[in-house]
Amino acid sequence: MPVAARSVIHQCPACGWRQTIAPLGDVVFAEPSACPACGHRPLVRQPASLLHTLLDCLLEHHPS
Ligand SMILES: [Zn+2]
Repeated sequence: MPVAARSVIHQCPACGWRQTIAPLGDVVFAEPSACPACGHRPLVRQPASLLHTLLDCLLEHHPS
């Protein structure tokens, strides 16, 4: 089972700021707890891999 980099997208629902954090190996980046642009919290956190999975699912079931 291939394991891709588990990228995580942090997005601010207030101003639209977003940042994608891609862990490299054992290096762990500090995840922002509040928006660095406007200070809003909490941030919306979602795994990028989930989006890719959903896209693949939609494409697979889309009648071509
Ligand atoms: Zn913000």
